[in-house]
Amino acid sequence: MALVEISGVNKHFGDFHALKDINLSIEQGEVVVVIGPSGSGKSTLCRTINRLETFESGSITIDGKPLPEEGKALAKLRADVGMVFQSFNLFAHKTILENVTLGPVKVRKQGKAEAEKRAMELLTRVGVEQQAAKYPAQLSGGQQQRVAIARSLAMDPKVMLFDEPTSALDPEMINEVLDVMTGLAKTGMTMVVVTHEMGFARKAADRVIFMADGELVEQATPEEFFTNPQSARAKDFLSKIL
Ligand code: ADP
Ligand code: MG
Repeated sequence: MALVEISGVNKHFGDFHALKDINLSIEQGEVVVVIGPSGSGKSTLCRTINRLETFESGSITIDGKPLPEEGKALAKLRADVGMVFQSFNLFAHKTILENVTLGPVKVRKQGKAEAEKRAMELLTRVGVEQQAAKYPAQLSGGQQQRVAIARSLAMDPKVMLFDEPTSALDPEMINEVLDVMTGLAKTGMTMVVVTHEMGFARKAADRVIFMADGELVEQATPEEFFTNPQSARAKDFLSKIL
């Protein structure tokens, strides 16, 4: 069984059909890039996998287990399924080090010393170890987003979701974040990445998923997708962005 199994998932917001019969299996270690026009349901899909949104029909399993509804099991799921958002969402009144140690201590029940040691390793890996004692507002957007990645990794997630992680960044900071993500992909992390960075998709993706109007319209290798898109909607989308 795949690490993430999404089958027949439908999601409405009131009368609006936001996810239409989504079927998607993501294997351990796979990097799936999700692209598509604004409003096509990419964020909703990520949020549904992390159970930030409910859905009406179908099923989602992570590592063979259905998404829990609430309580401790839900907290554990959120730790297993890391999520990095467009807005960095760091805790403003905690230091960088505290941002990274909080989850492991509270949810994973690690000791403080152990959590701090691991946090420093992760901050070093994303290149912001010098900033450990500072507060988020003292860091650049690119640095904050790298901290957000380190914070998710500190929970030892089974899969990482990235929802347009570089869209809010100044252009000169985009690559420093994409480089961290490319490095993470090489370590074998299972990743779902919503992005408009087609260079990243070509380089890092095992598979590209194209969404439009709440449907999963097309999936292919990056090579196939960018050179020979099948659907009219994908052709139209690519003609506008490439
Ligand atoms: P994308 O990330 O591809 O731009 P979203 O998943 O954010 O698209 O949104 C898909 C559609 O669902 C959009 O039309 C959006 O307006 C709608 N939508 C998203 N969240 C909500 C919500 N909480 N309530 C109502 N409609 C929503
Ligand atoms: Mg979105």
